[in-house]
Amino acid sequence: MASCSGWGCRVTGRVLRVRRGRSPNCSSAGSVVGLALASAVAGAAAINAFAGAFLEWTRGARGPGPGSGSGEGEAGQGKGEGPVRIRREGFGGIVAWPSPPGLLYVDGAGAEAALGAGAVEVGAAAPAAAAGALRAPTEVHLAVTSRCPARCSACYLPRGGAPAEPGGEEIRSALRQLASLGVFEVAFGGGEPVLRDDLLDLAREARDLGLVPNLTTSGIGLTAHAARRMAGLFGQVNVSLDGFGAGYEAVRGWDGTRTALAALERLGEAGVRAGVNTVLTRSNVGNLADMGAALAERGVAEWQWLRLKPAGDGAQVYETMALSADEALTLWPRALSVEAETGLAMRFDCALVPFLAAHGLPPDRLRRLGVEGCAGGHSLWSRGASGGYAPCSFVEAGAGGGAEAAEIWAADPVLGAWRRRAEDPPEPCASCDYREVCRGGCRVVARHRVGDAMAPDPECPRVRAASGAAS
Ligand code: SF4
Ligand code: SF4
Repeated sequence: MASCSGWGCRVTGRVLRVRRGRSPNCSSAGSVVGLALASAVAGAAAINAFAGAFLEWTRGARGPGPGSGSGEGEAGQGKGEGPVRIRREGFGGIVAWPSPPGLLYVDGAGAEAALGAGAVEVGAAAPAAAAGALRAPTEVHLAVTSRCPARCSACYLPRGGAPAEPGGEEIRSALRQLASLGVFEVAFGGGEPVLRDDLLDLAREARDLGLVPNLTTSGIGLTAHAARRMAGLFGQVNVSLDGFGAGYEAVRGWDGTRTALAALERLGEAGVRAGVNTVLTRSNVGNLADMGAALAERGVAEWQWLRLKPAGDGAQVYETMALSADEALTLWPRALSVEAETGLAMRFDCALVPFLAAHGLPPDRLRRLGVEGCAGGHSLWSRGASGGYAPCSFVEAGAGGGAEAAEIWAADPVLGAWRRRAEDPPEPCASCDYREVCRGGCRVVARHRVGDAMAPDPECPRVRAASGAAS
C-alpha cells in the first residue's frame, strides 16, 4: 500500500500483530494481558501506538524510540538497542521494535517500508519456514548452568545427578548460530545463571551479535556491582518471587524473599528494567492482590504469572500445588484488578492461555495483541544445559548432537510432531475458536496428566467440559 503525503509517496504496509514486551522467562513465551484485551478501544489504542510509531519511523519523521526520535527509551530499554531489526517471513516480516520493546508482525509492504527506513535484515541463514513454524524462533531460552544452591521443591529440573554447565565457547557458538538464524531475544536461565563468572561477558557477546539478552534469576549472587554492569546490557531481568516470607517458603520450600527483594532493589537502583516471575499455586493464588501492591511500591515494571509445570521435581508436587479448576478461572479477573490497582504490566505465560480463552474474549483481539499459547517449536525454542534443544524449557533437552541450530530447527522430529499437533489438533481443540491463539494448551501438563503429550490439555476448561469433568 502506497501513501502520499508531505514526506512523498512511501510504501507503508500494515502492522498485523503486536507482541509487547521482552521475553525474559524460563518458559520465555509470555503475553501481556490486561485492559487492552478486555476493551476494544484499549486494544486498538495499544496496537495503534506501535503502528503509529512504526509508520512515522518509516516516513523518516522520528526515530524508533519514544518521543523525539533519539532511540533512547525508559531505563534500560532504548540504550544500546542498536538498529531496528527485521526478519522476513512468509506473511511479510517481524520487526524487533526497540522502545517500548515489542515485536511487530508486518505484511510484505510493511517489511519493505522497514527495510527502506534502514532496518537491518537478520536471519540470512534461516531455512524456509517448516510447516507450522516461523523461519526461526523469535526467542530462545538458554540454560547456561543447572547448578543452583536453592533447591526449590517445585523446580522444573530434576534433583540429583551431576550438574551440567556448558563451557563459554560452547555458548558463544550457540549464540552465533542463533544470531545467524535471526533470533531476536535469548533468555539466560538455569539453574541459577548468575553463578556463572562469565555471564555478563556472554550477555555482551549476545548484544554484539544483535541479540537482546534477558535473564531470569532467584537473585542469589546478584550484587549491586553486578546489577550496575547489567544496566544497558540486559533487555530485562526477571526475579523469581512466589510470595513473601512463609508464602515464598510454601511454594519453594525455602524463604528467598530477602534475596529476591534485595536483587530487585539493586536492579532498580542500577536502572535495569526488572520484572517478577511468580509461579501460581494453591498457596499464593489468594494473595496476589497484596503481592501486586507490594511489587508496584518497589518499582517493578512487569509481573509475569506462570502456570506450575509438572516437570523435573515439579512433577512430584504437582497434584498438591497446582491450581484447582475454579482457582484457574479467577486468574483473568485477578490480573485485570491488579493492573487497575497498581499499573503493573501483567503477563500470562504460554501455559495459562487456556484459562484466558475460557473468558470469551474476542479471539482476533487476542491474536492481534500477540497472545500466544503453546509456542514451543513455533516461535519459541530452548537449549538445555547439556547442549540439546527442545521445544520449550520444560521438556528434557538431552545432549547436543553437534548439528547446527538451523538444521535442528528445520528438521528435528520432535519439533515436527509439536508443529503438526498445533496445526491439526484433536477435539475439542480442533473446533475451538481459540485454537490459533492457544495452540492446544500445555503439552507438558498433558504428558503428565494423561501420559500423552499430544492429548488435549486436560486442565483447559473447554477440554474439561467436553470430557464431562466436574468443575
Ligand atoms: S508445553 Fe507449550 S504451553 Fe507448556 S510450557 Fe512448553 S511451550 Fe508453554
Ligand atoms: S480447547 Fe484446546 S485450543 Fe481451545 S482453549 Fe482449550 S486447550 Fe486451547
